[in-house]
Amino acid sequence: MEKMTQERIGRNDSIFRDANEGIRAAAEEHGADFRVPFICECADPECRELVLLTVEEYRRVRQDPRWFVNALGHQVAAQGAADVIARYDGYLVVEKTGRAGEVAEELDGASGG
Ligand SMILES: [Zn+2]
Repeated sequence: MEKMTQERIGRNDSIFRDANEGIRAAAEEHGADFRVPFICECADPECRELVLLTVEEYRRVRQDPRWFVNALGHQVAAQGAADVIARYDGYLVVEKTGRAGEVAEELDGASGG
């Protein structure tokens, strides 16, 4: 795959991840111990699918800057730039590979955690 495409995939996903960080922070503030809707972090910029995770589950995915939450089946949007590393009830965890993974990691550091 072209480097530019991979770079775009990494960037798209990081935008959704920033939005999800806001959701997580708000849910945490309210002490939510139930599943809350997060935005699917797949590579499709048009995707508005919601996936349900607890704050704890989402925090686990965020341990690694290359890991993203995807709705079931949405890993195909990354066109091979992401591997499914775990399947849960209603969502997947994918790891970005190649340039897409590098960009995701860079952006994660840049946002100041
Ligand atoms: Zn999606």
